Amino acid sequence: TRRPLIAGNWKMNGLRADGLALAKGVADGVKQAGWSDRDVLVCPPATLVLAVAEAVKGSGVLVGGENCHAKANGAHTGEIAAEMLHDCGATYVIVGHSERRADCGETDAIVRAKAEAAWRAGLVPIVCIGETLAEREAGKTLSVLETQLKGSVPAGSTAANLVVAYEPVWAIGTGKTPTTPEVAAAHAHIRKVLGGLTGEAAQFRLLYGGSVKGSNAAELLAAGDVDGALVGGASLKADEFLAIAKAA
Ligand code: 13P
Repeated sequence: TRRPLIAGNWKMNGLRADGLALAKGVADGVKQAGWSDRDVLVCPPATLVLAVAEAVKGSGVLVGGENCHAKANGAHTGEIAAEMLHDCGATYVIVGHSERRADCGETDAIVRAKAEAAWRAGLVPIVCIGETLAEREAGKTLSVLETQLKGSVPAGSTAANLVVAYEPVWAIGTGKTPTTPEVAAAHAHIRKVLGGLTGEAAQFRLLYGGSVKGSNAAELLAAGDVDGALVGGASLKADEFLAIAKAA
């Protein structure tokens, strides 16, 4: 059985006071719930990784980065190495989020290099894939996901060292979500393609992301082959994020 993972992607949100209050709220809720059967992860902006990791210490809450560079160090002004995130207490890092693919021109090859960088630093990458609205309307969803997986998932990937997040671009921050059967179909296809790539698809954790809220989490998390959620806006309120974690 696959252990559910509920991950919050704070994106470019949170000054120190808000971020630490949010982290403490999540940590207190997770401690109180005493879950031993699921993982709860928060991915704050890089400026807060260290402080959040210290704030949640001992609670069981995991901390991740939102992005990393492929290289370990060097002349890359403004970039952050996976090693730096690890050094601050992160154990996961999101790579290839659609906002970075769109805003920063990240290709599948770049995303794959970042996933390999995560391993080099001792982090688990969460590799994001997802179709645009135009691609869905053209009936290309599954083929787009397949191309992204083949390009972004490195050789050597296992269920223990990599997580995949399916985030339809049109569902991010819009309040729109695919239907449960649409989510299940996408996840089944992702698992099948991962099986071809790695030979061990059954245990991979596949997260759904895109307008997950407290009110729709139970339904989305119950879709076939869904093992957790990658939550944006709703991860910025401790109560709502905890309600999503509870639904897992
Ligand atoms: P929302 O939950 O705000 O739609 O964002 C999803 C997302 O992009 C998480 O990475």
